[in-house]
Amino acid sequence: MRKRNRADTHQMRVYRFRTYLKGWNDPFRLPDVLHSFASRQQAYSNALCTELEKRCGDWAKAHPPTAHIHGSGCAPGCAKTLDYARRDKTFWDSFRAWAMEQFSLFGLNWESGADVLEKFQRTLNRMKAGGGPPRPKLRLDSFSILHRYTSRYIPKDHPSTGGGTFFGKLFDSRSKAFTMERPGSLAFASNSRDSRRDRCILAAFGFDGHIIPLRLVLHRQLDDEAIVKNVRLVGYKENALGWVFHICFIVEEPKPVRSQGRTRAIGVDIGWRILGSDLRVAVAYDGHAHKSGNLELRLPLSFPTRDLGVVGVQQLEDIQAMRDRLVEQCKAKVLTVLPVKPERWHLVRHSGLLRMLFDREQNVPESAR
Ligand SMILES: [Zn+2]
Repeated sequence: MRKRNRADTHQMRVYRFRTYLKGWNDPFRLPDVLHSFASRQQAYSNALCTELEKRCGDWAKAHPPTAHIHGSGCAPGCAKTLDYARRDKTFWDSFRAWAMEQFSLFGLNWESGADVLEKFQRTLNRMKAGGGPPRPKLRLDSFSILHRYTSRYIPKDHPSTGGGTFFGKLFDSRSKAFTMERPGSLAFASNSRDSRRDRCILAAFGFDGHIIPLRLVLHRQLDDEAIVKNVRLVGYKENALGWVFHICFIVEEPKPVRSQGRTRAIGVDIGWRILGSDLRVAVAYDGHAHKSGNLELRLPLSFPTRDLGVVGVQQLEDIQAMRDRLVEQCKAKVLTVLPVKPERWHLVRHSGLLRMLFDREQNVPESAR
């Protein structure tokens, strides 16, 4: 991946806002232009899957595996018998070149085509961590349409040079890619009903020569100076709800500064400890000290119950002690009927003793145990 400018001081964040197709009332279908474009993106992605599978098959035929010779690169106890040839740079360059030639065949431009190809590439990269190969999808149940902002939107002398546009420029713009109304001045003043209503604005997302009118819920305020790298219209199908849409911005913003000094934290430490006649279970922690006394949770070590009488740690210990006594009594009796004293007899506890008695009853021969 390309190294980002300002990677030390700035971070990328995705802001996602719920959006609705204005004037479209069928939640289980997409408008034709949207459906057609999303289908072409998916068909392209499926073609990549099929082509790669075919090319991998051809590669495997042309490069049969060779006998593995153990060497310094082997793991301890290496059980490999064959080495498979790694698909080389030529293989991937050729696949990539083929993939880019296909954009126009599927009616995709460099932006949307490259976006699908990049997503495909990311899935391939994940395979190294154990994910499966990308598979063709038969049903259209999600899509994502990208518009990337390139550097011409930002002055050359701006410290950010990686490309993008100012968030403030997206309001009431004449851009065919994306525009939205500026929310009323009181939209973020409070959480009153009027304020919340002001956050619902009109917007429009353009792609492939079409413009989709939207209603957008700008539920949080972004700085006008925030740098937007790209905007997406994404949709996915929720079985019961039908299609759900979002507008997503990738924004480059300054990393939050860690506050020094006073921490305003509260925590609860969980830990079991017997204190007197109680079991302490948890203690509150305010960032400076553990608050003993009334800010801790204690349970009594024994308490009366209606059906079992008194229940507590002492009773558990009594049960344990009784079981130990019974095991020793049982072992003493068993030893009198055994022909020889078994090995490590002193280590046999109740589970070993039970297994031994069970085997004797089943008449399993000694050697098979
Ligand atoms: Zn080896």
